Amino acid sequence: MGSETPSSPHLHVLMVSFPARGHINPLLRLAKCLASKGLYITFSTNHNIREMFDGIDIDTAIKIGHGELRFEFFNDGSPLHEPIRRPLGERMNQLETVGPGSLVQLINKQTETGRPVSCIINNMFVPWVCDVATDMGIPCAVLWIESCAIYSIYYHYFHELASFPTVDQPDSTLDIPGLPTLQPDEITTLLHPLHTIRAKPMKKAIMDQIKNLPKSFAVLVDSFEELEHEAIEPMLSLCPIRPIGPLCKFHDVGGTVSAADECLEWLDTKPAGSVAYVSFGTLAAPTTGEMEEIAWGLYNSGLSFIWVVKPNTEPLPDGFIKESEGKRLMVHWCPQDRVLAHPSVACFVTHCGWNSCMESLSCGVPVVAAPQFGDQVTNAKFLVDVYGVGVQLVRGIKDMKTLTREMVERCVVEVTRGPKAEEIKKNVLKWRKAAEETVAKGGSSEKNLQKFVDEIIQITS
Ligand code: UDP
Repeated sequence: MGSETPSSPHLHVLMVSFPARGHINPLLRLAKCLASKGLYITFSTNHNIREMFDGIDIDTAIKIGHGELRFEFFNDGSPLHEPIRRPLGERMNQLETVGPGSLVQLINKQTETGRPVSCIINNMFVPWVCDVATDMGIPCAVLWIESCAIYSIYYHYFHELASFPTVDQPDSTLDIPGLPTLQPDEITTLLHPLHTIRAKPMKKAIMDQIKNLPKSFAVLVDSFEELEHEAIEPMLSLCPIRPIGPLCKFHDVGGTVSAADECLEWLDTKPAGSVAYVSFGTLAAPTTGEMEEIAWGLYNSGLSFIWVVKPNTEPLPDGFIKESEGKRLMVHWCPQDRVLAHPSVACFVTHCGWNSCMESLSCGVPVVAAPQFGDQVTNAKFLVDVYGVGVQLVRGIKDMKTLTREMVERCVVEVTRGPKAEEIKKNVLKWRKAAEETVAKGGSSEKNLQKFVDEIIQITS
């Protein structure tokens, strides 16, 4: 089946996302890919994060190629506009309690309106979606939104196929086929023996997802064969893992936010390669003292910078604000994929969330890795030591306390000027090219995606 041909217009794929930006973005990109291949897609998530779809017409079906994309929201009982502020674990528990019932209603509604759901795709933190699908006899697939390496780590942990650090031996390293030896602080923090109580719901949801693997006919991963060949190869005999990314290369998330044009217009006024882009993602937030060190470090590096800060962040000191006038732009939000693609951006000071990793590799932007928690610490290890696209500023949230402006300045200079910067740039451009090729016609991700569409058609016909 060719990608230009309408696949099967009556095929209805329901995509269910955990309500967080880092989850919605890759699933929405996949939704657009599948619609463009002729499928009818309903994208669904919790009703109280409609604001994340700013600029997208969520009330009307959007035609994409031969297919269509529309939105339906389900209700976990929490009030509108309140969600992001509540702890992640709390939101996960509430969703797990109320979500399955809401999802059944939503699926039944589709049948009543003459569009029965043929297949369900869910992402991380909502493993109960697979249970609902199985109970209702609907084929189910998963979009894993972290790296294949991380999937392999969780898989080996769940099935006790490798020795992980323990409370008694917290310093032991981790060896898994296809991965470099990982030091304890390079292993996703959710598996750290001393992990915090707050991380428990996340760990449980991930373990439930691995446990539910037999209920899914495919595990799609927002990564690509050329980047993660060594991690993927040993997993192929264990589970139906299929790299289909970088999804950001197929489709942008779409929509606009008010800060969008401000950032891009500001970047337009800056010379090529003269701006550092700084973001710690949607969850992590440096303290006021840490921010001041980062701010001065950036300023002293000689680069201008765009920094995405959380709305309630304390302002930087007056002295800095005055001194750095014209050289900085602080925003609450920016269209990150478009900012990274802008020629004025020289480097990305990042918390190393997997979407951010995919976006910076796809845009060929060197990184200063400042991971905080979760998979970010492992992603940082890969970005720096395996893919060779950056340097490491900190190795986890505890390190932030010892961060100095000199360290920030040194790292930013190292990835943007001098022989090391040249090597890094060469590597990152190599990955950008590989990313372009893998999504182009005949590329491995493009072929995997088409195979997946064919599989849906076959399974559901
Ligand atoms: N993002 C964005 N603008 C911002 C901050 C984040 O568009 O100002 C997007 C970013 O491009 C990425 C997602 O939000 O697609 C964040 O996902 P990631 O996995 O990098 O980090 P998380 O927030 O999940 O920790």
